[in-house]
Amino acid sequence: MRAVVTGGAGFIGSHLVDAVLDRGWSVVVVDDFSSGLTENVTRYSDEPRFEFIEADICGDWSVEGPVDLVLNFASPASPPKFLERPLETLEVGSTGMKKVAEMAIAKGARLIQASTSEVYGEPQVHPQPEEYWGNVNPIGPRSVYDESKRYAEALLGAYHRMGLLDVGIVRIFNTYGPRLHATDGRVVSNFVHQALSGKPLSVYGTGKQTRSFCYVGDLVRGIFALADRRGEFGPVNLGNPQEITVLELAQVVGELTGVSVSLEYSDLPTDDPTQRKPDITRAQELLGWQPEVNLREGLLRTIEWFQASVLPADAV
Ligand code: UDP
Repeated sequence: MRAVVTGGAGFIGSHLVDAVLDRGWSVVVVDDFSSGLTENVTRYSDEPRFEFIEADICGDWSVEGPVDLVLNFASPASPPKFLERPLETLEVGSTGMKKVAEMAIAKGARLIQASTSEVYGEPQVHPQPEEYWGNVNPIGPRSVYDESKRYAEALLGAYHRMGLLDVGIVRIFNTYGPRLHATDGRVVSNFVHQALSGKPLSVYGTGKQTRSFCYVGDLVRGIFALADRRGEFGPVNLGNPQEITVLELAQVVGELTGVSVSLEYSDLPTDDPTQRKPDITRAQELLGWQPEVNLREGLLRTIEWFQASVLPADAV
């Protein structure tokens, strides 16, 4: 069996590559390092089942030979990163995603598309089930990410209904774990780095907004559970329903790092959702999946990983 992982040098993509190889399959990574890390590729320089194509998925690239599974995980995914590169984010979620889908069609491969809880926008239904259509500001700054992911779902839904492509969609909620980039800008990586380097934790807004954080290993298991259900479109929410406020997260990070943290407040980014929590009934019933790693355990593993890795000079 042979899989293609776009964005395989990124945070979630690199964990998917590990999982593909652990299954005994071969893997082809397509990545342009726009947000991924070279070390996620060089790690496998001696692995004969690992191939790497350095390319922007929107540009010219092709994969030789048979492919069984395509995992499309190429995109900036942290709010500061997609806000920095709005046009590239729209392009990778539309043109790039379409090229990946066309490749999967040509190969007769199953495609798993990384969608997002951002398709629910500022949710007016809580927790969010897959049936909820969402509340996205189509012209706000976050729309470059949210709407390109919604477009991807629409296009892949059309291919699916036309019988052209075997595709499954995962809607991924906030994910954290080892290999989160130090400069990524997400709340978990910011807080852990700030705590470990003795800086105040940067709380946006009041800190009373909620998120539900899923450990990356649990997410990867869920992605493969859907990949293995040939013919199943979903979409399926993958996330941990353990919901906490940003302030509570700051407190837990302080406790687990053993640091007495101070907080530094700044403005809430535009359209930052007030609350977010997945309804995972569908994943439980359809895939027999649910998260196994609770927040404290997952954060401890993440903190250990950050302590063991070198802090980049430009980390927050
Ligand atoms: N956040 C924060 N401080 C940070 C980074 C993020 O308070 O240093 C907040 C952010 O405003 C949001 C939540 O934490 O309400 C989660 O943000 P993140 O960027 O991790 O992911 P999002 O859920 O917004 O995609």
